[in-house]
Amino acid sequence: MESVLTINNLTKRYGRLVAVNDLTLEIKKGEVFGILGPNGSGKTTTLGMLLDVIRKTSGDFKWFGQPATKEMRKKIGAILETPIFYPYLSAVKNLEIVAEIKNAPKENIEPALKKVELFERKHDKFKTYSLGMKQRLSIASALVCDPEVMILDEPTNGLDPQGIAEIRELIKSIAKDGKTIILASHLLDEVQKVCTNFAVLKKGDLLYSGLVDDIDKGEVNVEVASDDP
Ligand code: ATP
Repeated sequence: MESVLTINNLTKRYGRLVAVNDLTLEIKKGEVFGILGPNGSGKTTTLGMLLDVIRKTSGDFKWFGQPATKEMRKKIGAILETPIFYPYLSAVKNLEIVAEIKNAPKENIEPALKKVELFERKHDKFKTYSLGMKQRLSIASALVCDPEVMILDEPTNGLDPQGIAEIRELIKSIAKDGKTIILASHLLDEVQKVCTNFAVLKKGDLLYSGLVDDIDKGEVNVEVASDDP
Protein backbone atom coordinates (compact mmCIF):
# COMPACT_ATOMS: atom_id res chain seq x y z
CA MET A 1 0.00 0.00 0.00
CA GLU A 2 0.98 3.57 -0.73
CA SER A 3 2.68 5.43 2.10
CA VAL A 4 0.74 8.41 3.42
CA LEU A 5 3.19 9.45 6.12
CA THR A 6 6.76 8.49 6.90
CA ILE A 7 8.34 9.81 10.09
CA ASN A 8 12.08 9.47 10.58
CA ASN A 9 13.82 10.14 13.89
CA LEU A 10 11.44 12.96 14.77
CA THR A 11 12.33 14.65 18.06
CA LYS A 12 10.91 17.53 20.08
CA ARG A 13 12.66 18.91 23.12
CA TYR A 14 11.34 21.57 25.46
CA GLY A 15 14.51 22.55 27.26
CA ARG A 16 15.64 19.39 29.02
CA LEU A 17 12.32 17.61 28.55
CA VAL A 18 12.19 15.29 25.56
CA ALA A 19 8.51 15.34 24.57
CA VAL A 20 9.02 13.15 21.48
CA ASN A 21 12.15 11.07 21.25
CA ASP A 22 13.55 9.86 17.92
CA LEU A 23 10.19 8.69 16.54
CA THR A 24 10.21 6.59 13.38
CA LEU A 25 6.87 5.39 11.96
CA GLU A 26 5.09 4.73 8.69
CA ILE A 27 1.36 5.13 8.05
CA LYS A 28 -0.14 3.69 4.88
CA LYS A 29 -3.17 4.59 2.84
CA GLY A 30 -6.42 3.24 4.26
CA GLU A 31 -5.10 2.62 7.75
CA VAL A 32 -6.89 3.81 10.86
CA PHE A 33 -3.74 4.47 12.81
CA GLY A 34 -3.97 4.90 16.56
CA ILE A 35 -1.35 6.82 18.50
CA LEU A 36 -1.86 5.44 21.96
CA GLY A 37 -0.35 6.69 25.17
CA PRO A 38 -1.15 8.16 28.55
CA ASN A 39 -1.33 11.90 29.17
CA GLY A 40 1.99 13.58 28.53
CA SER A 41 3.32 10.78 26.32
CA GLY A 42 3.85 13.10 23.34
CA LYS A 43 0.79 12.43 21.18
CA THR A 44 -0.30 16.04 20.74
CA THR A 45 3.28 17.20 20.25
CA THR A 46 3.73 14.61 17.51
CA LEU A 47 0.54 15.67 15.73
CA GLY A 48 1.51 19.34 16.13
CA MET A 49 4.85 18.74 14.42
CA LEU A 50 3.21 16.79 11.59
CA LEU A 51 0.91 19.77 11.00
CA ASP A 52 3.71 22.32 11.35
CA VAL A 53 2.06 24.06 14.28
CA ILE A 54 4.87 22.88 16.58
CA ARG A 55 8.44 23.29 15.42
CA LYS A 56 10.40 20.03 15.44
CA THR A 57 13.79 19.91 17.13
CA SER A 58 15.23 17.36 14.71
CA GLY A 59 14.28 14.54 12.38
CA ASP A 60 12.07 14.49 9.39
CA PHE A 61 8.67 13.51 8.04
CA LYS A 62 7.10 13.25 4.63
CA TRP A 63 3.45 13.34 3.64
CA PHE A 64 2.71 11.36 0.47
CA GLY A 65 6.45 10.84 0.00
CA GLN A 66 7.26 14.54 -0.14
CA PRO A 67 8.19 17.35 2.22
CA ALA A 68 5.02 19.21 3.24
CA THR A 69 3.82 21.96 0.94
CA LYS A 70 0.85 24.28 1.31
CA GLU A 71 -0.95 22.53 -1.55
CA MET A 72 -0.44 19.10 -0.05
CA ARG A 73 -1.66 20.24 3.35
CA LYS A 74 -5.11 20.62 1.85
CA LYS A 75 -5.24 16.81 1.70
CA ILE A 76 -4.92 16.69 5.48
CA GLY A 77 -7.91 17.48 7.67
CA ALA A 78 -7.08 17.96 11.32
CA ILE A 79 -9.05 18.47 14.48
CA LEU A 80 -6.60 19.05 17.30
CA GLU A 81 -9.13 20.89 19.40
CA THR A 82 -12.78 21.78 18.89
CA PRO A 83 -12.95 24.53 16.29
CA ILE A 84 -14.73 27.71 17.29
CA PHE A 85 -18.22 27.85 15.83
CA TYR A 86 -20.68 30.72 16.05
CA PRO A 87 -23.20 29.69 18.74
CA TYR A 88 -26.14 31.66 17.29
CA LEU A 89 -25.65 30.47 13.72
CA SER A 90 -26.93 27.20 12.30
CA ALA A 91 -24.65 24.26 11.51
CA VAL A 92 -25.01 24.91 7.81
CA LYS A 93 -24.15 28.61 8.19
CA ASN A 94 -21.14 27.71 10.30
CA LEU A 95 -19.93 25.29 7.64
CA GLU A 96 -20.46 27.90 4.94
CA ILE A 97 -18.08 30.13 6.86
CA VAL A 98 -15.59 27.26 7.19
CA ALA A 99 -15.83 26.57 3.44
CA GLU A 100 -15.26 30.25 2.73
CA ILE A 101 -12.19 30.45 4.98
CA LYS A 102 -10.71 27.20 3.72
CA ASN A 103 -11.60 27.92 0.12
CA ALA A 104 -13.52 24.64 -0.14
CA PRO A 105 -16.48 24.04 -2.49
CA LYS A 106 -19.86 24.79 -0.89
CA GLU A 107 -21.18 21.62 -2.58
CA ASN A 108 -19.22 19.62 -0.01
CA ILE A 109 -21.30 20.97 2.89
CA GLU A 110 -24.43 18.84 2.45
CA PRO A 111 -22.55 15.54 2.01
CA ALA A 112 -20.44 16.40 5.08
CA LEU A 113 -23.57 17.08 7.16
CA LYS A 114 -25.12 13.82 5.95
CA LYS A 115 -21.97 11.89 6.75
CA VAL A 116 -21.95 13.09 10.36
CA GLU A 117 -25.73 12.60 10.63
CA LEU A 118 -26.55 16.23 11.29
CA PHE A 119 -28.42 16.87 8.07
CA GLU A 120 -31.82 16.81 9.77
CA ARG A 121 -30.61 19.34 12.34
CA LYS A 122 -28.61 21.50 9.96
CA HIS A 123 -30.75 24.63 10.47
CA ASP A 124 -30.57 24.45 14.26
CA LYS A 125 -28.31 26.86 16.06
CA PHE A 126 -24.93 25.47 17.09
CA LYS A 127 -25.60 26.32 20.74
CA THR A 128 -28.54 23.89 20.83
CA TYR A 129 -26.32 20.95 19.92
CA SER A 130 -25.20 18.29 22.40
CA LEU A 131 -21.46 17.82 22.94
CA GLY A 132 -21.50 14.79 20.66
CA MET A 133 -23.23 16.77 17.91
CA LYS A 134 -20.70 19.57 18.31
CA GLN A 135 -17.89 17.09 17.91
CA ARG A 136 -19.57 15.63 14.82
CA LEU A 137 -19.87 19.12 13.38
CA SER A 138 -16.12 19.57 14.00
CA ILE A 139 -15.52 16.44 11.96
CA ALA A 140 -17.87 17.76 9.26
CA SER A 141 -15.85 20.97 9.13
CA ALA A 142 -12.79 18.90 8.19
CA LEU A 143 -14.80 16.84 5.69
CA VAL A 144 -15.86 20.01 3.87
CA CYS A 145 -12.34 20.08 2.39
CA ASP A 146 -12.65 16.42 1.34
CA PRO A 147 -9.25 15.54 2.83
CA GLU A 148 -7.42 12.28 2.12
CA VAL A 149 -6.20 12.09 5.70
CA MET A 150 -8.05 12.97 8.90
CA ILE A 151 -6.14 13.66 12.09
CA LEU A 152 -8.17 13.46 15.28
CA ASP A 153 -6.80 14.19 18.75
CA GLU A 154 -8.82 12.49 21.49
CA PRO A 155 -12.12 12.95 19.62
CA THR A 156 -14.26 11.23 22.25
CA ASN A 157 -12.92 13.13 25.28
CA GLY A 158 -15.68 14.44 27.51
CA LEU A 159 -18.54 12.73 25.65
CA ASP A 160 -21.20 10.49 27.18
CA PRO A 161 -21.26 6.78 26.23
CA GLN A 162 -23.71 7.33 23.38
CA GLY A 163 -21.68 10.23 21.99
CA ILE A 164 -18.52 8.14 22.23
CA ALA A 165 -20.12 5.23 20.34
CA GLU A 166 -21.40 7.59 17.63
CA ILE A 167 -18.01 9.20 17.07
CA ARG A 168 -16.30 5.80 16.93
CA GLU A 169 -18.80 4.53 14.34
CA LEU A 170 -18.37 7.74 12.37
CA ILE A 171 -14.58 7.36 12.29
CA LYS A 172 -14.93 3.79 11.02
CA SER A 173 -17.40 4.90 8.39
CA ILE A 174 -15.10 7.72 7.19
CA ALA A 175 -12.29 5.17 6.93
CA LYS A 176 -14.56 2.94 4.80
CA ASP A 177 -14.90 5.85 2.38
CA GLY A 178 -11.18 5.43 1.72
CA LYS A 179 -9.73 8.09 3.98
CA THR A 180 -6.68 7.43 6.10
CA ILE A 181 -7.19 8.27 9.76
CA ILE A 182 -4.69 9.16 12.45
CA LEU A 183 -6.25 9.04 15.89
CA ALA A 184 -4.56 10.01 19.14
CA SER A 185 -6.08 8.37 22.19
CA HIS A 186 -5.20 7.45 25.75
CA LEU A 187 -7.70 4.57 25.67
CA LEU A 188 -6.58 1.13 24.61
CA ASP A 189 -10.23 0.15 24.29
CA GLU A 190 -10.82 2.96 21.78
CA VAL A 191 -7.84 1.96 19.67
CA GLN A 192 -8.97 -1.66 19.71
CA LYS A 193 -12.50 -0.73 18.64
CA VAL A 194 -11.60 1.75 15.92
CA CYS A 195 -8.06 1.26 14.61
CA THR A 196 -6.35 -1.18 12.28
CA ASN A 197 -2.79 -0.23 13.28
CA PHE A 198 -1.30 1.52 16.25
CA ALA A 199 1.78 2.85 17.95
CA VAL A 200 2.34 3.14 21.68
CA LEU A 201 4.09 6.20 23.09
CA LYS A 202 5.25 6.62 26.64
CA LYS A 203 7.16 9.67 27.88
CA GLY A 204 8.03 10.45 24.27
CA ASP A 205 9.40 7.01 23.44
CA LEU A 206 7.88 4.66 20.89
CA LEU A 207 7.28 1.41 22.74
CA TYR A 208 5.51 -0.56 20.05
CA SER A 209 3.99 -0.29 16.63
CA GLY A 210 2.01 -2.90 14.78
CA LEU A 211 -1.41 -4.31 14.03
CA VAL A 212 -4.31 -3.92 16.42
CA ASP A 213 -5.01 -7.63 15.83
CA ASP A 214 -1.71 -8.33 17.59
CA ILE A 215 -3.28 -7.07 20.83
CA ASP A 216 -5.89 -9.83 20.67
CA LYS A 217 -3.17 -12.35 19.92
CA GLY A 218 -1.50 -11.32 23.18
CA GLU A 219 1.61 -10.13 21.36
CA VAL A 220 1.52 -6.68 22.95
CA ASN A 221 2.14 -5.88 26.57
CA VAL A 222 -1.06 -3.92 27.11
CA GLU A 223 0.12 -2.83 30.54
CA VAL A 224 2.41 -0.36 28.82
CA ALA A 225 -0.09 0.45 26.14
CA SER A 226 -2.67 2.34 28.10
CA ASP A 227 -3.67 4.20 31.19
CA ASP A 228 -7.18 2.76 31.15
CA PRO A 229 -8.52 2.41 34.66
P1 ATP B 1 -2.22 14.98 26.61
O1 ATP B 1 -3.24 14.00 26.19
O2 ATP B 1 -2.24 15.29 28.08
O3 ATP B 1 -2.17 16.24 25.74
P2 ATP B 1 0.02 14.01 25.10
O4 ATP B 1 0.38 12.57 25.00
O5 ATP B 1 -0.64 14.64 23.96
O6 ATP B 1 -0.82 14.22 26.41
P3 ATP B 1 1.88 16.15 24.93
O7 ATP B 1 0.85 17.19 25.14
O8 ATP B 1 2.45 15.97 23.58
O9 ATP B 1 1.37 14.75 25.46
O10 ATP B 1 3.07 16.45 25.97
C1 ATP B 1 4.29 15.72 25.99
C2 ATP B 1 5.20 16.31 27.04
O11 ATP B 1 5.65 17.61 26.61
C3 ATP B 1 4.54 16.54 28.39
O12 ATP B 1 5.48 16.25 29.40
C4 ATP B 1 4.20 18.01 28.38
O13 ATP B 1 4.18 18.54 29.69
C5 ATP B 1 5.34 18.59 27.57
N1 ATP B 1 4.97 19.83 26.84
C6 ATP B 1 4.02 19.94 25.89
N2 ATP B 1 3.96 21.20 25.40
C7 ATP B 1 4.92 21.90 26.07
C8 ATP B 1 5.37 23.26 26.02
N3 ATP B 1 4.82 24.13 25.18
N4 ATP B 1 6.38 23.61 26.82
C9 ATP B 1 6.95 22.72 27.68
N5 ATP B 1 6.59 21.42 27.77
C10 ATP B 1 5.57 21.02 26.98
